Amino acid sequence: MKKLKPLIIPIFIPHSGCPHQCAFCNQSIITDTSHNKDKSTQYILPSQEEIRNEVDRFLIYKGVRKEVELAFFGGNFLGLQKDEIIFLLSSAKELVNDGKIDSIRFSTRPDTITKDRLELISQYPVSTIEIGVQSMDNAVLKTARRGHTSEDTIKAAALLNNIKQYGYFREASSIDTDIAAISTTEAKPFKIGMQMIVGLPEDNHKTALETAKKIAELKPDFVRIYPLIVLEGSLIAKWYREGKYEPISLESSVKLVKEIFLIFHRHGISVIRMGLQASDLLQDKLSMVAGPWHPAFGHLVYSEIFFDKAVDLVNKELSCEDRDIKQDDKKESQIITFTVHPASISRLRGDKNSNIKRLKDIFPSIEFKIQTDDSLDKEQIFCN
Ligand code: SF4
Repeated sequence: MKKLKPLIIPIFIPHSGCPHQCAFCNQSIITDTSHNKDKSTQYILPSQEEIRNEVDRFLIYKGVRKEVELAFFGGNFLGLQKDEIIFLLSSAKELVNDGKIDSIRFSTRPDTITKDRLELISQYPVSTIEIGVQSMDNAVLKTARRGHTSEDTIKAAALLNNIKQYGYFREASSIDTDIAAISTTEAKPFKIGMQMIVGLPEDNHKTALETAKKIAELKPDFVRIYPLIVLEGSLIAKWYREGKYEPISLESSVKLVKEIFLIFHRHGISVIRMGLQASDLLQDKLSMVAGPWHPAFGHLVYSEIFFDKAVDLVNKELSCEDRDIKQDDKKESQIITFTVHPASISRLRGDKNSNIKRLKDIFPSIEFKIQTDDSLDKEQIFCN
């Protein structure tokens, strides 16, 4: 049966609650909200009416969805002032009470996840917190002007994992004591997400893989992996123009993100996004200064994974045949048929059929065919 995805309604609060601008960041470009500034370049939070209107606009596309989440993205949510947090969460809670949405999610820096802040949000139906980890290497974090360390992320994950078992914050009245008394039968799923960036200054293959392993140890429910794109208006754009920073190539970043994906996959952690969203502004050459941008970056990574799997399968198939076929029983050519889920044909074929061409280069005497089976998982592949 097809798994229903939640509808996530994004409310962008670019740079709100940020203590400073991180070296790689320009949220007004990423979230297409460059209009949403006052004259002193301070961002203003959306009004209750604007939030409600945005929700109504998205609900037109609800269709058959499991649940609807309102997401505050693009800023540092728990770094907002206390009254601002209460204002945004109260506005969202009204929408939950009206039956328009089911829950709230937001992204925040690890150093803002404190007992005080969790206590503050405990009366609201927050179902997901995404932590901007970016790297677990302190030298990389320092150069990126993050202003926090990997130890902050470890502490944040411990705090969240400690209360996660009790479900939504709305059932909690105290993080320290009363929460333990909450009936777990009332608890609803509460998720922790983590975001990491590859290609930051001083980051390399080894530190990126180490970051992924350390994040996996913190047991998030899901992760997002972003190759660094040099954005206009960011400090890294200045370094790039001064020759102090060189982004990694698209080819290298696809291979690196593939390895990172497989680390999370082995730990049973789902990767919900690889690469930035294909927004209009990101495709505007003026916004993107440099970097491994591709409108379907995740697809490129999945295609690499399918290519590796296909090569392994063909090698196994050939080694079995070697055992079965006598030396003098030479075959002129051979057909190998791969079976995948219908949605995975393009992953197996690769960009512009590149995977099939590469397979033909490695195994010139084999003809490759593809058939589909919708009972398979999207990640499965067989051959015969
Ligand atoms: S990366 Fe996050 S914390 Fe840093 S400036 Fe951007 S939104 Fe703010």
